[in-house]
Formats: sequence, structure tokens, C-alpha cells
Amino acid sequence: MTDSVRTDIQQDTILVGIGASPGIAIGSSHLVNRARTCVMERSISAEEVEQEIALFRQAIDLSRQQLEEVKANVVNHDLAEHLYIIDTHLLILDDQMLVGQTEAQIRQELINAGGALRRTLSRFRQAFADIEDEYLRERHSDVDSVGERLMRNLLGVVQESLQNVEHRSIVVAHLLSPADTMQMDKSKIVGFVTDLGGRTSHTAILARSLGIPAVVGLETATAMIPEHLPMIVDGIHGTVVLNPSAATFKEYLQKKQSFEYLEKELLALRDVPAETLDGKKVTLCANVEFVEEIDPALRHGAQGIGLFRTEFLFMNRNQPPDEEEQVAAYRNIVERMAPDSVTIRTLDVGGDKFVPEINLEDEANPAMGLRAIRFSLKEVKLFRMQLRAILRASAFGKVRLMFPMISGIRELRDCLAHLAEVKAELKRDGCPFDDELPVGIMVETPAAAMIAELLAREVDFFSIGTNDLIQYCLAVDRGNENVAYLYEPLHPAVLRALKMTCDAARNAGIEVSMCGEMAGDPLYVLVLLGLGFDQLSMNAPAIPRVKQVLRQLHSDEGWMLLKELLTLATAADVTLRIEDEMLRRFPKLFLPTPL
Ligand code: PEP
Ligand code: MG
Repeated sequence: MTDSVRTDIQQDTILVGIGASPGIAIGSSHLVNRARTCVMERSISAEEVEQEIALFRQAIDLSRQQLEEVKANVVNHDLAEHLYIIDTHLLILDDQMLVGQTEAQIRQELINAGGALRRTLSRFRQAFADIEDEYLRERHSDVDSVGERLMRNLLGVVQESLQNVEHRSIVVAHLLSPADTMQMDKSKIVGFVTDLGGRTSHTAILARSLGIPAVVGLETATAMIPEHLPMIVDGIHGTVVLNPSAATFKEYLQKKQSFEYLEKELLALRDVPAETLDGKKVTLCANVEFVEEIDPALRHGAQGIGLFRTEFLFMNRNQPPDEEEQVAAYRNIVERMAPDSVTIRTLDVGGDKFVPEINLEDEANPAMGLRAIRFSLKEVKLFRMQLRAILRASAFGKVRLMFPMISGIRELRDCLAHLAEVKAELKRDGCPFDDELPVGIMVETPAAAMIAELLAREVDFFSIGTNDLIQYCLAVDRGNENVAYLYEPLHPAVLRALKMTCDAARNAGIEVSMCGEMAGDPLYVLVLLGLGFDQLSMNAPAIPRVKQVLRQLHSDEGWMLLKELLTLATAADVTLRIEDEMLRRFPKLFLPTPL
């Protein structure tokens, strides 16, 4: 494989990036020029203004036409539901910030269209760069790819198509747009790598949907890789091997086969029931933030959406979505998941979730500040609009409503009072909705865990958000790497908070679920079973493995282990004990993966 290409690259050179779509691809490089276009800013005279604006508008029209063509040419069924990404890009072409600011600069600063567009794009880039939340930060890539398309059209650069490539090509590009990914022909393109990009960019999401292995964020891929270089993409570990030796090639061929075998085996579990050996059912659901995650959720056997983070709807725009737009978005997900339920959580902004469109004041301690339900109870108009939209969506399927970060009864009652009033309004307006829609809270503050018994009397379900519960219980910022060593899901304090909450739910006869990251780790299944969870909600790919473990356990065994764990004094002791138990029971499942 290596003999046919002359290259200065040493055999088995490894590049490390971010695994954006799992799987192994073996092929040869195909370089695609998607480098940022270079444009000179130049001053123009007042007479040239209209001409520059006309050029800019022509570029917008051409971009619109190209995106419409991409949409029209999508034949792959896996992608049909993702076409809305192209719609989003079409909307960005109308965006007042992008278009308005660029035109304003042409007029006011008297600069050429390319220079003005470049300035607008770098302003966007800066605004997004500081955002901590990965998903929110990555939404910038949509603006970026539309901006670059516009720029190329403005400069008359012809965009090379991805359709006429050789078989077994691995596309190497600076950055690929979602439209590029949609055009990939899987029978020819086996993988791709990019210099830029993150795991939650739409390009990465589409790659996962298509099952194309991808590594992004490699920084130097386009600088290092020549055309037709034999290479391997390991999308599981985020590595790329250039110029592989015969031994490496053989090794990866085996890894590829075993990955594909394992995937098939796990996906085959999709339709088997999620229940223990003695028939205790645990509903396994998916957490989603945006509509394109519904398809992977269904593919992995999700029995509902246990957490729909609605924050995503409020991003990449000047104004929060109005009621109609929210209804349409919620309804879409609810109908796609029917007859299973969708738990819609009201807006959770603040803390580490920065939504640029909502003006949050700078706070010294945002995690403990005006976050989540506290923000909604302050911005009552926005809150009630969201409640109306969620209720209206409940006419189209099974919806559960959930309030985030509740810390007391007063707060909960305020939420319920708003809900009652909004329901009365809808009735007056003759708008149908599910009057019996279950209402629950996220238990993610120690206060809520401690008064779970009181809260349980006033709601229909609890969902424990361990990501926050751990951070608040242990006073450890979930995003701060300096204290990451203290972020221990199995700290005895966390275990007790979980138990208190589950006990309170059971005593009150309400359902208890977990939707934090902890729910998707197969290592914890036995303990969570012991705690008595009715539902676990996680990222979709985690579902089959959790199900596989669950199906080999007996419900009593969890309880016995939990009793023992509660006598242990440190997180390390608890972890060791669980690992010991799970390794003994599932020696294969918890072995370091062969990949
Ligand atoms: C949690 O805190 O565990 C949770 C699921 O919510 P989020 O991660 O959105 O804060
Ligand atoms: Mg949370």
C-alpha cells in the first residue's frame, strides 16, 4: 500500500485531533481547497458604494442558489432530516447582523464588500471564541461556513465539488461545511479530516449520521498531507496515521473489522427490552439539544427523550424565538418521538451556558447566580411564552415539562402558578393542550435533594441532573480543570444525595430518572439499579451498552451493592468496589477496548 506513493512523510506518522465521528477509515488522501479566502480590504469612493453593495447582494443570491441546489440533490435518506441545517444556513444569508453590518460598513467606512464582510466575520468569530460551552461555541461554525461561501462567491472563486473523487478517498480540508458533508458519496469517500472544527459542529454531527469516520481540529493536516497519501483515520481516538507501514495497516484493518462488528452487535440491541433478568424495566432515553439528534436517538433504541435542552433554540439569532417558532420546534420533536414521551426542560441559561442573544449581566459567580429557573422567573414574559409553546406542543404527542435547578418550594410554586395561569389563558384562547401533562423538576442542587420529600408532594417526577448536582454538592466547578480531580460522581455525599432523592420519590409514588452524564456510564448501572431509577437518559450512543449491562443483572443485586457502598468512607473506596464488582461480572465489557 505504501510503495506506490513517493512521499517525504515518515511511515506511521501520527497526527492527533478530535474524534468527531467514530469508526476507522483506510484510504488515500484527497485534498480539497477550503482554505479561508484571502481578501484585501481597500478604501472605496462614495460613488463605488452602490456597486460594492450590488456585488455583495449578488454573492448572497448565488450562495442561496448553491444551497438550494445542495438541498435538491440530497438523495441519502439518512440526511433527509438534516436538511434543516441547510435551511439554517439559508436563514443566516438573511441575517441582519451579517448582511446589515456588512452593508453598513461598506457605506459608513467606505471599504470594499470583501473587506467589510471579513470584518463582520471576524467580529462574529471573536464573540463566539470565549464561549465555554462547546456546543454553543460550535454554532459559530455555521455562520463561518456561510460567511466563507459568501466570500468565495464574492471573489468569484469556483468551489470544487466533492462528488467526483476516486474510490476510498479520505477528504483532507481546512474546514468542511455541513453542505460539503451532505454531498459526500459514501461509496467513494470513506472518511475525512480537517484542520479546524469541533465535535459538536454540524459537520461532525452529519458525519456521525452518515457513519463516516472523521477527525477534526488537526490544525496542520492540510499543511502536512500531500495528495494521494495512504492514510488511516481513527475517529474513535481522534488520531490519523499517515503513510502506514504494512504492520500498521494490518493492525487497523483488524480494528476496523472489530469496530464494525461491535457496532452491529450493539445496534442489534435496539429492539430488545431494557429490563433486568427478573423483569424490572428501566426506560432508557436520550438527551438531545437539537433536532438532528433524534435520528441517532431512535437508531440507538431510545425509548423517549429524557432531556430536551431547549437552550439551542435561542442561539444564533438576534431575537429569542417567538411562540410560533417554539411550538413548531417542540412539535417536530414530539411528533418524531411519538408514541414515546419527550421531556422538555425550560430554558437553562447562565452558569456555563452562555447564550449571546440573551443579555445576561456579568456576575461574579454565575454558577450560583441568575441561572436556569431563576432567570426564567425574572424574565417572566419569556418564561410564559415558553410555557405556552410547550403546552401547545403537548397537543401533538406525549410531553413532560421540567424545570431546571429548582432549589426550594417557593420557587417551584411560583413556576406552577405561572403554569396554571398560562393553561387558563390557553383554554380561553381555545388552544388545545394536554391538561394532564406531567410536570417535574431537575434535582441538581443539594437543597433540592435535602427537601426531596417536600418537593415530591408537588410534582409528578424528578430527574436528577448529576452534572450539576455533583458540582454543587462538592463545591467543584464542573468546567474547571484545576479542581477536576475533586469532581467525583461516587463521593459518599453524592451517593447519599441520590439515595435521598430516590427514596423520597419512591415514598411519594412519583417517577425518578437521571439525566446527567452518570446515567450513560455502564459502570454505574448496577448502583443506579440499586437506587431504584425508573428512567435513565443519556447521550444516544451510550444506550446500547447500558442496556446490554442492565439485561444481565438482577434488580436485587443492585440494592445489596448499594447497601455496602453506603458504608464506605471515600469516593476512591466506592469506585474500587464498583469496579471490582463490574469487572468480575463483565470481564469483556470493561476490558480496555481493542480499538
Ligand atoms: C445536569 O446538570 O446533570 C444536566 C443534565 O443538565 P445540564 O448538563 O444541561 O446542566
Ligand atoms: Mg444541569
